[in-house]
Amino acid sequence: SSLALSRIGLAGLAVMGQNLALNIAEKGFPISVYNRTASKIDETLGRAISEGQLPLFGHYSPRDFVLSIKPPRSVIILVKAGGPVDQTIAALSEHMSPGDCIIDGGNEWYENTERRIREATDRGILYLGMGVSGGEEGARHGPSLMPGGSFQAYDNIKEVLHKVAAQVDDGPCVTYIGEGGSGNFVKMVHNGIEYGDMQLISEAYDVLKHVGGLSNDELAEIFDEWNRGELESFLIEITADIFKVKDEHGEGELVDKILDKTGMKGTGKWTVQQAAELSVAAPTIAASLDCRYLSGLKEERESASRVLEDAGLKDEVGPVKLNGSDKKRLVDDVRQALYASKICSYAQGMNLLRAKSTEKGWNLNLGELARIWKGGCIIRAVFLDRIKRAYQRNPSLASLVVDPEFASEMVQRQAAWRRIVGLAISAGITTPGMCASLAYFDTYRRARLPANLVQAQRDLFGAHTFERIDRPGSFHSEWTKLA
Ligand code: NAP
Repeated sequence: SSLALSRIGLAGLAVMGQNLALNIAEKGFPISVYNRTASKIDETLGRAISEGQLPLFGHYSPRDFVLSIKPPRSVIILVKAGGPVDQTIAALSEHMSPGDCIIDGGNEWYENTERRIREATDRGILYLGMGVSGGEEGARHGPSLMPGGSFQAYDNIKEVLHKVAAQVDDGPCVTYIGEGGSGNFVKMVHNGIEYGDMQLISEAYDVLKHVGGLSNDELAEIFDEWNRGELESFLIEITADIFKVKDEHGEGELVDKILDKTGMKGTGKWTVQQAAELSVAAPTIAASLDCRYLSGLKEERESASRVLEDAGLKDEVGPVKLNGSDKKRLVDDVRQALYASKICSYAQGMNLLRAKSTEKGWNLNLGELARIWKGGCIIRAVFLDRIKRAYQRNPSLASLVVDPEFASEMVQRQAAWRRIVGLAISAGITTPGMCASLAYFDTYRRARLPANLVQAQRDLFGAHTFERIDRPGSFHSEWTKLA
């Protein structure tokens, strides 16, 4: 232990906490660490020594830990969201003084953060809910950080956060997000967007593999190539790598041996719930969530597959033997469909953020959020710089779909996009995310929708009234008498 006081403290030394603490120490900020179970403190100390004698100091009681930090104290908490955060706050805050700050770095529900802000404020303690993205690797070498809550608390550790965050061409991947639970909310939507990206990539894979008949070697090569163009991103890059990994326990590649059942921890579900709550359409993100639910019904799907095969169902289009130029065209179409679908998915996520910002008065800067997602986080991509610039051109842009640059990119890609969605539908594999994005695009861009008929039905059975296109006012018709 040190006699000098630490610049900052971190409690909760599982995967995220350990790595973030080492990152902070490596940037030259002496840090005190604590964990409920002592073995994780020893483990972290061991790593601090082996990773370069980093200035990291372990404390085995909440009191020693808190008192080892220089006032006003800043303590980052990285424990399981929910009750464990409350329990950790209770254990630590007993030893904290007015003006000290608590920073919860977990994937917390934003309303829990807002409740804790009120509780902390009553005791003069400042509070931040800070989204941390980038997994283990990001935490260790540069995450994307989304701190929201007390601006003073942010200002107290700004110099630390700016050094610890991922660095991109236009600065560190951190910014003060806004008041209240805005940091957690933004992280939640980031995760929802991540669900969408992963779903869209898996659909591209499905079409290339099951319609195009491409091998894992070919897929690896294609994803590597895509990662040098407009799709360049962390998720495309790791997908290329996944296709290259051989199975240790048998023939072929590991990816083919993985059970097709997706796990989840809830942030995607919250995103879709919030979209519904705010009347914001987020069909691509919702489709990705639904696909995770359906993937979970592995046994039911296997039996449905048998029942429908017995009933005579056959695929309309099986894997086709493609010649070189057909294959090239399929790959190129899929790339374009993926890119256009992604624009729509981000448009949904951004519009959800804007709706919440208006409701809560958070004043979110959407362009700046796109900027801090350019590095460190799971959705990091070259593409995000384009989103940043779209909002710089027009901060009140109604949707990314109508930004002039994105609009022309979507129009250029729409023929390929429709070909892929059509092909997938006739092959019976479907691409729920790409379909949802395309339907979103087509619904949003149509000046007139069949909603007139829905209004007529509502007026007929419920006298809900309707407006007319040719005169102001609210109308009701005696439909059944006039029919
Ligand atoms: P985790 O598995 O979510 O949580 C384990 C940590 O929580 C351990 O330090 C554990 O202490 C502590 N803990 C659990 N119950 C506790 C209680 N009642 N009182 C005190 N401490 C308690 O850890 P993680 O994966 O590192 O994630 C931390 C947070 O970051 C979570 O909110 C997570 O959602 C978020 N996050 C994770 C990732 C990721 O890639 N893993 C990425 C972004 C964000 P003991 O050792 O004593 O059990």
